[in-house]
Amino acid sequence: MSKSLHRLVATCSLLCLSGEALHAQATITPPVDSVQDAAIRSMVGRLDLERYKATIKGLTQFGDRRQGTARNRAAVDWIEAQLKSYGCTPTERITYDFQVAPPRPAGSPPAPPRPRPDYPAEGGSHVRGIRARTGVNTDSLRQPDPRVRALNAEQTTSGQRQEVYCTKVGTTRPNEMYIVGGHMDGIGWGEAANDDGSGTALVMELARIFSSPDVQTDRSIRFVLWNNEESGLNGARAYVAQRQALQGVESPAGSGRYPEPKWLGMIQHDMMLFDHGMPRADGTLSPAQRPEADVNIEFQANSKMAAESQKLAWVVATANDKFATDYPATVGQHMTNTDSAPFQDIIPSISLRENERGAHIGAGWDPNWHQPTDMFSTYSDKDFLLGLNAAQSTLGAIAMLSGARLAR
Ligand SMILES: [Zn+2]
Repeated sequence: MSKSLHRLVATCSLLCLSGEALHAQATITPPVDSVQDAAIRSMVGRLDLERYKATIKGLTQFGDRRQGTARNRAAVDWIEAQLKSYGCTPTERITYDFQVAPPRPAGSPPAPPRPRPDYPAEGGSHVRGIRARTGVNTDSLRQPDPRVRALNAEQTTSGQRQEVYCTKVGTTRPNEMYIVGGHMDGIGWGEAANDDGSGTALVMELARIFSSPDVQTDRSIRFVLWNNEESGLNGARAYVAQRQALQGVESPAGSGRYPEPKWLGMIQHDMMLFDHGMPRADGTLSPAQRPEADVNIEFQANSKMAAESQKLAWVVATANDKFATDYPATVGQHMTNTDSAPFQDIIPSISLRENERGAHIGAGWDPNWHQPTDMFSTYSDKDFLLGLNAAQSTLGAIAMLSGARLAR
């Protein structure tokens, strides 16, 4: 068998079980009785567009929240204060070191290009259609607002970093948990409102609702606001490096407490707002949301946990069918370039986004990505509502998976 045909067959054995996979979709969603279904609907109803917007707005007071700056540390403090105010306590932090790459010495050869995992080796590029330019803006003068320019003036320096999380402890299975994440750092001389204030606020809103005094879950849920995503997923990598071996260990022995419950799955949220379609022939984007706007749920087809991750994706898609109010969800097999990647060979791992990361965002479908225009004021209520529908989908899925119910 040729190598490429062998790869095709290997991919097919995972993805071409469509009949079986569709049948499995009906059975992989945890059974939910009518009482629990009503409880989850009530919890989803506690998500509110104005509240979601207010949390994103709160994050934008720290500008782009770039890692390794005072505004990034202030944002971590602010997020932690909000989590505490929701009753998601105790909050905890992990600490790690991050070294900024030194400038290239004069005369030395340029570094080789970084690998592009968004165009997977097994099938070449899956990008189709018109492409527009993408990149990270590093020019302060492209930010026209002097207030925002001043806010983002401090540049990153090497050293200690922190990121914060809080945990909803399960009642009957506190030793098992789902991880729900978004990254709080941003880049590009704007407010990082969409990338990733929108995912961070989504995770904070879920932490608020699951921490309501009347909500109980069988399993634990951890809400993590990653730092250093934009520098190479370093905050998520630090979490895996420091905590993977602690899973399921009761500490102190006999206490019934599990500082790191066993990981059951990881759901990442990164850029939730902007789905305006493909660039036009001249490279510009529609100012209006496209009628086909959807929530893109992605797993990584060439990861070790691909089959299990695909099942988790279908649970979230099913929760979208059941609980989301305005927009459908679409499942794809090219998850990449976000904080779920360091988990993808260890546990079921998926990400939710406004578009496909590789084929759409990589091809320039979001003109505000890493740009000074990633400002709160850039987005319409329809854009924010797409993010809220992603929140409804993950909330519904996690509620089913963790066995959530409401106290009477
Ligand atoms: Zn991002």
